[in-house]
Amino acid sequence: MAVYRPPEGRVSNPHVPLGERRDGPFYGKSIISVRQFSREDLDYVFGVAREMREMVSRIGSFDLLKGKILANLFYEPSTRTASSFYAAMERLGGSVIPINEVHYSSVSKGESLPDTIRTLECYADAIVLRHPQVGAAAQAVEVAKKPIINAGDGVGEHPTQALLDLFTVSSELERVDGLTITMLGDLKFGRTVHSLARLLALYDVRINFVSPDILRMPRELVAELEAHEVTLTEHDRLEPVLAETDVLYVTRVQKERFEDPAVYESVRGCYVITPETLRGAKERMIVMHPLPRVGEIAMAVDDDPRAAYFRQMENGMYVRMAVLAMVLGKA
Ligand code: ASP
Repeated sequence: MAVYRPPEGRVSNPHVPLGERRDGPFYGKSIISVRQFSREDLDYVFGVAREMREMVSRIGSFDLLKGKILANLFYEPSTRTASSFYAAMERLGGSVIPINEVHYSSVSKGESLPDTIRTLECYADAIVLRHPQVGAAAQAVEVAKKPIINAGDGVGEHPTQALLDLFTVSSELERVDGLTITMLGDLKFGRTVHSLARLLALYDVRINFVSPDILRMPRELVAELEAHEVTLTEHDRLEPVLAETDVLYVTRVQKERFEDPAVYESVRGCYVITPETLRGAKERMIVMHPLPRVGEIAMAVDDDPRAAYFRQMENGMYVRMAVLAMVLGKA
């Protein structure tokens, strides 16, 4: 699998304070796509995330990134990604410049993304970027001297979400190889499933895609997975694949990506997981969702031990602590 390595010299931080480790695989690197990760890299990230979970439960916060500053630059709404990066940095003893509402920044005066990036990297050691355009994070890397972490580029990718998703699968089910993963909902516009499917291609898994016809997984991505010899099937109903499913990954229909509201209305509420649905599922399986949910999983499911989405959300902070520590040279 092609490994994305941003051009040397563009993303390395030239000012390396004494005592920082510079030999980790992600030191000074931008994280733009899950294509950058090998299985060994994932084992490494998950090992660090487990240590972070342990440290948080034992002592809460510690000074691993004391003196470091992260800029959180969000051009699209976010609850979990923005606040978990924020919490991750704070728990590691660093601090954050939060730009969650770009309308109040110079972006509203017409400032370009490259200029905003050049500005923030004067003040921060790394920049987390969420942007509505596919490729925005890669574009930012072209001008940045500091690491950029892609927190979602339109309908493109959401690599740290995929890392936390896979960390959740392996924590909950104690393996990834041999599992059957069913992704349900908006597979066309959902960036989390794009990244997760690519990561799963590194493992020996079966993937089922379940969606309405107009929201199928993009053909290029299916071709990419098939080139990696992933066993995959596509359906428009969940029933045929539910009983074999180990991980049911539910997604929201991405209302904001539709040009025609009538088309959105035609697929809104297309699947709803209820306690009744789960009667047809394995005893040992998990239900995941990147959240927010807008009706795809009934609240009555929350008490089922198989409902893993809130544990998944918590894992986001540990995985993002690991990513920050690795990128900033302390893992
Ligand atoms: N929070 C996730 C994302 O930013 C999922 C979603 O919005 O549906 O992609």
